[in-house]
Amino acid sequence: MILIDVDYNQLLSRLTGRRTCPTCGRIYNVHLQPPRVAETCDLDGSRLVTREDDSDAVIRERLTAYEQQTRPVAEYYRRSGRLVWVDGSMPVDQVTEHVFQEIERHGVITAEGG
Ligand SMILES: [Zn+2]
Repeated sequence: MILIDVDYNQLLSRLTGRRTCPTCGRIYNVHLQPPRVAETCDLDGSRLVTREDDSDAVIRERLTAYEQQTRPVAEYYRRSGRLVWVDGSMPVDQVTEHVFQEIERHGVITAEGG
């Protein structure tokens, strides 16, 4: 099992910062990948929206579900020595690279949790 560990507040700002274009579906992040004009799609000028499942309340709910349901599973794998920890605070391409390195090293298969 690979655990991609991200600081709670950092994760919250990544998720709540997400904006979607209702016309072309392009995804932005007001913190990490903002559009050139605030709240406006670079490609077609549509007003960006926050999806229902990116709202603060829904995200907190998802993170709570993670704590209650997924963390105990991670703990089980950690105790049996089969948990691989990856630092999720790095930029996305570096996280991806580390995950693939670990898969190559251990020959593990990943499943998404949370
Ligand atoms: Zn668009």
